[in-house]
Formats: sequence, C-alpha cells, structure tokens
Amino acid sequence: MRISEIFYSIQGEGVYTGVPMVFVRLQGCPYRCAWCDSAYTWDTAGGENHTLEQVLNTVAQWPATHVCITGGEPLAQPKDFLALARALKQRRYWIEVETAGGFAIPPDAPIDSWVVDVKCPGSSMERINKLDTLPRLRPADQVKFVVASRADFDFALAVLRQHHTSAQTLFTPAWDQLEPGALVEWVKAEAPQARVSLQAHKYIWGPTRRGV
Ligand code: SF4
Repeated sequence: MRISEIFYSIQGEGVYTGVPMVFVRLQGCPYRCAWCDSAYTWDTAGGENHTLEQVLNTVAQWPATHVCITGGEPLAQPKDFLALARALKQRRYWIEVETAGGFAIPPDAPIDSWVVDVKCPGSSMERINKLDTLPRLRPADQVKFVVASRADFDFALAVLRQHHTSAQTLFTPAWDQLEPGALVEWVKAEAPQARVSLQAHKYIWGPTRRGV
C-alpha cells in the first residue's frame, strides 16, 4: 500500500484528544480542500510502497494500544485499507479512521470509531459529501465540520437538521481562518449537543510540523 508516514504521537483532535496513538497516514487524496494542512499526501505517486507486514511491524515497535488510520484519504486505497484494518484488529488494536466521507464506508471494516469529515463550503469540496452516511454512523463514531466562517457553521447546522446521526458532532475552527472563541460561542448557543475540537498538536508543535 502507498504510505505517506507512520509515527507515534497523541491524537490531537476529536473525542480521543490526548490518547497516545500510532498514526498510519496513507498516501493519495483525490480532493483539494482549501485549508488542507497535508497537501504532501495528495499525489498518489508520493510516499512509499509498504507491504502489510512492514506496516504492522512498524506499528508494533511502539507500546500503543490505539491506531489512527488517516490520510490523504484512506478509503481511496480500499483493498489495502480493509486488509490493514483487519490485520490490526486481529492484533487487538483499537482503531480510529479519519475520512473525508466522499467514499462509501465499508460496513465490514472492524473500526472502533469512524471520524467523517463533512466538507463545508469554505473547503471548496462540499460537492464530495455523501450525507447518506450520517444516519448509519454509531454513537462511537464522530462527524466533524471544519468551520472557516459563519456561513460554514450555518451549513453544518442545516446538515445536522436534515440528516439525523447518532455520531458525536465536532466543530473545528479552520486554522488561521476563524477565531476559536467565536466558534465556541456559536456552539454554546446553537449546538449544545456538540463539542468544539481544537487541533491540540498545532498548539503544541506549531501548525506545520509533520510526524506529530
Ligand atoms: S480530504 Fe483531507 S487530505 Fe484530502 S484535501 Fe481534504 S483535508 Fe487534505
């Protein structure tokens, strides 16, 4: 499979913020979000080829019990993704997957928590959203909106009104585009069932450092 990087850190965002995890970042993404902070993952010819065994051996060198499969877009390599998820689960890892939600979620993948990133208009990738995914998500899953403006927040509220989901709802301010305090006030007033998710890794290590 095509791999961008594998590293051990803490989860910087979402419900499991602060939990030590190995990140397996798959290379290749067909989307072009305006605020993407990992454009180095876009090129499908970038990164390196790794066998499944190589990936598993790299993951096993750290004492982590949790693995996050991310990208790029992990579901853009569907066969390799499924093989990796099954092999990790056989080894009893807890697995989180971060996806843009433009691909159908494989129902037979043994994932503990899907994180589906619904694209708001500010990303310029709103057209990729497969919103029929939302009602199929479980309470253990997460729906994330990266919000760059009030218009993005209004879009997210409309999506949540029209597509019931049992998943936990996260609002993340787009880095350098929306003042986090403004988003906090909007969530407190208009989405009190949700939570604000800051990107802790950027506060700790800066916005551009890789491998953390
Ligand atoms: S889906 Fe993710 S990796 Fe792809 S362009 Fe958007 S933010 Fe970047």
